[in-house]
Amino acid sequence: MTAELIAAFAAIVGQAHVRTDEDARQRYGVDALQIGHPADLVVLPAGTEEIAGIARLCNAHRIPLVVRGAGTGYTGGAVPVHGGVVVSMERLNRILEIDEDNLLAVVQPNVITRALQDAVEARGLFYPPDPSSLNQSSLGGNVAECAGGPRAVKYGTTKRYVLALEAVLPTGEIVRTGSKAVKNVVGYDLTQLLVGSEGTLAVITEITLRLVPKPAVQATIQATFSNIDAAVRAVSLLLAARVVPATIELIDEVSLAAVARRLNRPVAPQGTGAMLIIEVDGVPAGVEEEAARVTSACQAAGALSLTRSETAEE
Ligand SMILES: Cc1cc2nc3c(=O)[nH]c(=O)nc-3n(C[C@H](O)[C@H](O)[C@H](O)COP(=O)(O)OP(=O)(O)OC[C@H]3O[C@@H](n4cnc5c(N)ncnc54)[C@H](O)[C@@H]3O)c2cc1C
Repeated sequence: MTAELIAAFAAIVGQAHVRTDEDARQRYGVDALQIGHPADLVVLPAGTEEIAGIARLCNAHRIPLVVRGAGTGYTGGAVPVHGGVVVSMERLNRILEIDEDNLLAVVQPNVITRALQDAVEARGLFYPPDPSSLNQSSLGGNVAECAGGPRAVKYGTTKRYVLALEAVLPTGEIVRTGSKAVKNVVGYDLTQLLVGSEGTLAVITEITLRLVPKPAVQATIQATFSNIDAAVRAVSLLLAARVVPATIELIDEVSLAAVARRLNRPVAPQGTGAMLIIEVDGVPAGVEEEAARVTSACQAAGALSLTRSETAEE
């Protein structure tokens, strides 16, 4: 990239927020797979107007623009495969609003998923999407990838929670989609078009997320089975018993052996071929009823062992 162009980007974000050194070009050129292509330039904008300026400059000079959140993706979406400018969102990392009356939060895109969850849980609210990377991933990356985890069974994935977005188009135009209203049904759903778009359509600069009340209690049931078929049967039985668990995780024999090696102790009884970890949550009476139904379903499917824990630590 020419010195004039680098100077033009520096004029938008400030010299201190431009990286041209080899180390940065390599570091911002890979995602979690650690395979990639060096960026020509890395810029760290402070806000929407600066991002719009970067987009206009890239567009005018036909320079690829690649958005980067926390870089934990595996899809290569944050990798500048054709070089160009990597726009790191790391400075846009503030929770702008937690609106307890309307059950929503407004955030900048590089708030770490866990940080929002901790902040809203402290107020008795809950942001359910739980990719395993939630201690590192950004909410912008979660929206761009429609991230989800074990809670998807009951609570769905990121898309269920995105009410509105502010975004910068490749031309530099700033757009707002959606609204804070839950029943916002008129017109094209441009918000959901951007959810899962992996940085190909726009740079997401602000996100309005729906929250739900934090469940009062939870119970976790661990059940072991001699084989995967029995574990899968237990899941069918508990769904037939009209329980939608907050989370279900199936751990196969190979993964159980890996955990046992790592902890240097057995994690399941002899002869275990599969384990289910099932969490139910809600109000106390409901959780008791659902836990009893889960236990019955696992027993009917031939569980070798059943253990119930009550605390998050367990
Ligand atoms: C150990 C580990 C466990 C994981 N577990 C899960 C899991 O359980 N479930 C799951 O869904 N994923 C999982 N992932 C994948 C990854 O963490 C998620 O896809 C996450 O949403 C990516 O967020 P990020 O901030 O790291 O995004 P990045 O990796 O930086 O970017 C990912 C994509 O989003 C785009 N993007 C980022 N920010 C923006 C923005 N502001 N505007 C527009 N586009 C943007 C990028 O261009 C890129 O295409 C895991 C990853 C790791 C390393």
